[in-house]
Amino acid sequence: AASPMFADLSGDIGVSFEFFPPKTEKMNETLWESIKTLSPLGPRFVSVTYGAGGTTRERTHATVARIASETGIPAAAHLTCVDASRAEIAEVAQAYWDAGVRHIVALRGDPPTAGSKFQPHPEGYASAADLIGGLRQIAPFEISAAAYPETHPEALSPQSDLDNLKRKLDAGASRAITQFFHEPDTFFRFRDAAAAAGIDAEIVPGIMPVSNFAAIQRMSVMCGTDVPAWLARLFDGLDDLPAARQLVAATVAAELCRRLYAGGVRNFHFYTLNRAELAYAICHMLGLRPTVAKPEDIAA
Ligand code: FAD
Repeated sequence: AASPMFADLSGDIGVSFEFFPPKTEKMNETLWESIKTLSPLGPRFVSVTYGAGGTTRERTHATVARIASETGIPAAAHLTCVDASRAEIAEVAQAYWDAGVRHIVALRGDPPTAGSKFQPHPEGYASAADLIGGLRQIAPFEISAAAYPETHPEALSPQSDLDNLKRKLDAGASRAITQFFHEPDTFFRFRDAAAAAGIDAEIVPGIMPVSNFAAIQRMSVMCGTDVPAWLARLFDGLDDLPAARQLVAATVAAELCRRLYAGGVRNFHFYTLNRAELAYAICHMLGLRPTVAKPEDIAA
């Protein structure tokens, strides 16, 4: 018999969704619409980023605290070492713990001005591994750390970057979430290299659905993420066709996830950019269906 074009995936996946703290009331509405759409999928957690130089400290806190109190979904706060003393970080972390937040995505962070080099605060943490060690002293948080399938741009070598990932896990992180990448083999190679380096924690691929190609290309260059020629070709000529671009974006991201799934990946982290549709469509194609009532149903 002919094999079906779409295998009937059982939806045995775990997903998490990343958001950024909104700047305006309009952006706040978009964010909450997205959270409402995505939360019935029963994410393992949702996370909220921390702006360069701690510029979003209050907004990140407010967003994470509201998710934790209104949705019941485990909420994770991103936290960086930039421009903060150890005492300030302890204060922020303690406030999260007191607000019921039990999960931190612990990062070194980048300087607020693009292109300049990270300088640790004189009384602060010099790296994510140091931060993770510090957080462990404050409260028994669940901690996630960042990983780089194409090597962090400042790393001395791929091996030294893997050693650094191992330090973060040894310091108390229980999972790694990767920088985005465009080819499934990039992830598989990294997974193999990590296993060879003695890393046995889960490595969750970070999925960035590409709908604004120019923006993704800029970010890819900054992060050292390779942009394959086929991806540029797929978006070529679609600048003035937003609907077509969304369809192409969904197709590309769904195919990436289907290949990762075929390679054994069961947990996915989505960079949603605060939009729900692409992430929802991909999760749906991976067989995921709503498992919990929508927040408004609970309220009713
Ligand atoms: P680290 O793990 O400290 O590594 C930084 C660099 O130093 C690497 O090159 C590493 O190899 C090297 N290094 C560290 N220690 C040593 C050592 N002892 N010897 C030699 N080399 C060493 N940024 C934000 O500002 N806000 C966010 O919310 C945010 N969220 C993110 C979420 C994810 C999932 C990812 C992947 C990234 C995120 N970032 C965020 C970006 C991140 O802050 C940057 O990539 C930053 O440049 C590195 O952070 P890190 O935690 O990986 O740092």
